[in-house]
Amino acid sequence: RARQLGRNRVEWYDDELEEQFTRRLDLERELPGAAQRGELDLVYQPVVDLATTQPVGTEALLRWRSPALGTVLPNELLPVAEDLSLLEELGRWVLDAACRQISVWSQRPRELWMSVNISPKELAAPDFISWVGMALAEHNVAAERLVLEIGEPRGGVDVPAVITQLAALRAMGVRTALDDFGSGQASLAQLRRLPVDFLKVDRTLVTEGGSRNGESKPFIDVVVGLGKRFGLEIIAEGLESPDHVEQARSAGCRLGQGYGLSRPGPAERVEAYLEEFPSPSR
Ligand code: C2E
Ligand code: MG
Ligand code: MG
Ligand code: MG
Repeated sequence: RARQLGRNRVEWYDDELEEQFTRRLDLERELPGAAQRGELDLVYQPVVDLATTQPVGTEALLRWRSPALGTVLPNELLPVAEDLSLLEELGRWVLDAACRQISVWSQRPRELWMSVNISPKELAAPDFISWVGMALAEHNVAAERLVLEIGEPRGGVDVPAVITQLAALRAMGVRTALDDFGSGQASLAQLRRLPVDFLKVDRTLVTEGGSRNGESKPFIDVVVGLGKRFGLEIIAEGLESPDHVEQARSAGCRLGQGYGLSRPGPAERVEAYLEEFPSPSR
C-alpha cells in the first residue's frame, strides 16, 4: 500500500484515486431512475444580441438534483450516463422538458428559440428524428423554435449518420449548431462536413485568445470570418465581462452568452431577465 512507502505524494495520490472511485460508484448507483424520480432539472441561459443586449434565445442546461449527492453537473454525469447506456433516456427527458418550456414561453410577446445540447451518439440513433418530431408535436411547438447543439463527434460515433440526421432535422425546420468551436474539440474538418446553422465560438477563444496570451483578436477574427463564409450565425460563448462582450462584438459576433450577460438559472430567472426589456413593437 502506498501509505507504507511513507511518501506524501504517493499517499495523497492513493487517497485521491480512492475518492474518485467512490464518487464514481455513488454516481453509478444513484443515476438509474433519476428521471422517473423527478430529480432532473433544466436551467436556462439567455442568448443575447450583442448590439442591443436583447435576449433572442436560451440554452437549456441539464442539472441532476440528487438527494444523495447534491447537484451534479453534466460534465460529470454524462460520461456515467454513457457507460450505463442512459444517454438516450436522459436526452429524451431533456428534449421533452425543453419543448414544454418553449411552449410556455411561446405565450410571451417576444418569441425566443431554445437550444438543447445533444450528444452526437444520441443524434446518430435511427429513431432520434421521429422522437424530435413527437416532442415538438406533443407540446405544439414550431420546429423553428428549436436549435439542437452538438459537439464534435468522437470515436465510435457514426459520422455519416450524424450528417444525415442533421440534414433531416434542418429539413424539418429545426436549426442546428456546432458547439465549442475553437476548443480543439470541434475542428475545421467538422465545420466543412456538418450541416449546421450556428457556430458557437468556444469561450477559451474569447477569454484566453486560443493559445497566445493577449493575442485573442486574430484568432476570433479568423473563426468569425470562417463562420460567415459558411453562412453561419455566430454565437460567442463564455462572455464573463464587459471586455469579453466588447471583444466578441468587435470581432463581428452578432450573438453571445456568458456570466457577464446572464447566468444560467431557473425559468423564472429568465422571465425576470426578459421583463427588463421592452416588448418588440413588431
Ligand atoms: P456547453 O453546451 O458549451 O454549455 C456551456 C457551459 O458553460 C455550461 O456549463 C454553462 O453553465 C457554462 N457557462 C455559461 N456561461 C459561462 C461563462 O461566462 N463562463 C464560464 N466559465 N462558463 C459559462 P454546464 O451547464 O456545466 O454544461 C457543460 C456542458 O455539458 C455543456 O457545454 C454541454 O456540452 C453539456 N450539456 C449540458 N446540458 C446538456 C444536456 O442536456 N444534454 C447533453 N447531451 N449535454 C449537455
Ligand atoms: Mg451548448
Ligand atoms: Mg459550448
Ligand atoms: Mg462547452
